[in-house]
Amino acid sequence: MNNETLLRNLRNIPDFPIPGIQFKDVSTLYKDAECLKIMVDELYEKYKDKGITKVVGIESRGFVVGAALALRLGAGFVMCRKPGKLPGDTKKESYMKEYGEDTIEIHCDAINNDDIVLIHDDLLATGGSMKAAYNLVKQFNPRNIYIGFLIELRIEGLHGREALGNDIEIETLIRI
Ligand code: AMP
Repeated sequence: MNNETLLRNLRNIPDFPIPGIQFKDVSTLYKDAECLKIMVDELYEKYKDKGITKVVGIESRGFVVGAALALRLGAGFVMCRKPGKLPGDTKKESYMKEYGEDTIEIHCDAINNDDIVLIHDDLLATGGSMKAAYNLVKQFNPRNIYIGFLIELRIEGLHGREALGNDIEIETLIRI
């Protein structure tokens, strides 16, 4: 299902942050009360029977709907952050980006092996950052891990879903 209201309200900014990138600006979805409700309601419907106990949001655009969804699901919310931002002891995962390496972190005590985790981010492009988040959450050995995005980019040359692998359950609200 492709959501007409969300598609209509999503702003595209050409050549941001560098020439050639069509940047999907989710701030126009976050600021709109109807869109915000649609996103949280639709993800809630997809995950309400999965027994999710923790929603992990990826910094920073994954925090907005991730936290609202956690509240609806009766789950806790966990921040997956860039290095040096979390004050306590962390587990880390490094991954290759187009230019150089990057690292993400989650507090060591944020997830335990009884948890059923949903990892949430705004957008799936190459899948690189979500794959790293998935590998990081796996370090905690939770009972199950689901992945949910607002937007899936399916333009030529992007194979995000394939990069994440077939054994992971992935949901997206709109595909472009
Ligand atoms: P990737 O790791 O390539 O799947 O990239 C996903 C991350 O980069 C998400 O956190 C997005 O917010 C951001 N991102 C990548 N491409 C775009 C784009 N065209 N428009 C908006 N955000 C993007």
